[in-house]
Amino acid sequence: MTEKRTHFAPVIVWFRFDLRLHDHAGIRAALESGRPILPLYIWDENPATRPLGAASKWWLNRSLEALNQDLQKHGSRLILERGNARIILTSMAKEYGIKTIYCSQTFDPKNEHNDWEMADELAAAGIKLYRLNNTLLVPPGTLYTQGGKPFRVFTPFYKSLLASGACYIDTLPDLPAKPWPQPTKWPKSLKISALGFQPALTPSGRDWSSNFDRFKPGEAGARSALKHFLKNSLQTYESDRDRPDLDVTSHLSPHLRFGEISPQRILHEIAQATQTDHRLTTGAAKFHAELAWREFSYGLLAQQPRLHVANFRRDFDHFEWRHDDAQFRAWCRGETGYELVDAGMRELWQTGYMHNRVRMVAASFLVKHLLIDWRRGEQWFWDCLLDADPANNPASWQWVAGCGADAAPYFRVFNPITQAAKFDPKGLYRSRYIQGYTHSPTDAGHTKKQAELFESTDTFLKYPQPVVDHVFARDRALQAYKNRMADEEYE
Ligand code: FAD
Repeated sequence: MTEKRTHFAPVIVWFRFDLRLHDHAGIRAALESGRPILPLYIWDENPATRPLGAASKWWLNRSLEALNQDLQKHGSRLILERGNARIILTSMAKEYGIKTIYCSQTFDPKNEHNDWEMADELAAAGIKLYRLNNTLLVPPGTLYTQGGKPFRVFTPFYKSLLASGACYIDTLPDLPAKPWPQPTKWPKSLKISALGFQPALTPSGRDWSSNFDRFKPGEAGARSALKHFLKNSLQTYESDRDRPDLDVTSHLSPHLRFGEISPQRILHEIAQATQTDHRLTTGAAKFHAELAWREFSYGLLAQQPRLHVANFRRDFDHFEWRHDDAQFRAWCRGETGYELVDAGMRELWQTGYMHNRVRMVAASFLVKHLLIDWRRGEQWFWDCLLDADPANNPASWQWVAGCGADAAPYFRVFNPITQAAKFDPKGLYRSRYIQGYTHSPTDAGHTKKQAELFESTDTFLKYPQPVVDHVFARDRALQAYKNRMADEEYE
């Protein structure tokens, strides 16, 4: 009797940031085992790592719905649990005689540590936890410098990544055609609504997520975003990716964050498209490099698990940031008086996304023009971005602030006026997010136009005057950075 029960015991596929069915190592292994599969998601309100931001919770909610619908097409369904993963996994394993659990590595060091401990505990109870890579091209700890150290500079890292062959794949693991093995007894499950995702943010009391419809969370949404990108934008990606007005980037970031598509699949489809259309080659090469930044960022997170709070370069620890809540609030609300910064911050607020070039300008404005601690901006992005990523977000913020690995040089202070003129030459991007905006080629940056109106919460306000003068702010930033940094760093 016991033998029979063990033989037919189900296996658990424990989903985390891998919310897809295709190209998923855990699902493949589970199907190959021939055993019934229990697809499980656990919502842990006290995670080992940083709790999700509000926009991410919005995405997660919908992504879980999509995953459940996809599972239902296979005669299965998602089991939802709420609480501590160790306790839930142990008690399910006991109840259903489970000996095998598959999950994906998150590559978030705190989680990794927790996973190892949990794997040991489960192993002591005779349960094997397989932790698989469904997230990265090359997990941290695979590539090293010639001196045997983890990479801290992007270009040699990228060369090494290319040399590893990881950017190209020949075969694509996919769901086998055989039917999904049904468990004989389904565990009880919560409804998604019972997980209690409540995105709540200030400063507006409005239905803040109502404009997130640019994206379609879930695996089907990821695939259609990729298809759209390959068809419409890859060819001009290299030349136009810095133009927020043209909007040619892939918008795959939240899908990648929640593992709705693998980077391997993206590269595979790009390679296929490039084989049939050689005009895509330049765009494809540039896109590879951008994906490699994601890999690089995860490598940095592995080196500094507290990347969102700890300066990668410790000589920044004594930097004297300004404490100015009014200016920070103006930045969050898109009321700095600098149009490109304001348009970006409103794009973020309204859509849960911001174009990469504008992220750089807006972030630079906070840390250099306003000299406000990068961690405050990082946290705001963490809450508002649908693609808020534990590696990409802090690594990018540290890059902008100058305290990161391979960071932007301290004397690079983005000029929001010339950046606007260069990357949004006709003001199309700005007019999308600043109500009443009229473009003036001779006044291409922040404006002294008195009559411009925009809607903010429930009142109409005049477009704000700049919170700080650009030339003054630039000089102040250069002085502050020079004073604080060890001279030899910048010789
Ligand atoms: P594409 O240009 O189509 O790029 C394809 C993919 O490559 C992206 O989806 C992303 O996974 C990766 N990628 C592109 N640029 C970068 C980069 N600079 N660093 C790391 N990966 C990159 N990206 C996030 O995914 N999550 C974040 O939380 C995040 N925060 C950022 C904060 C700041 C201050 C800055 C300057 C950048 C941040 N980025 C972040 C990087 C980048 O802005 C976004 O990945 C990109 O805008 C997403 O749009 P896309 O998918 O259309 O990009």
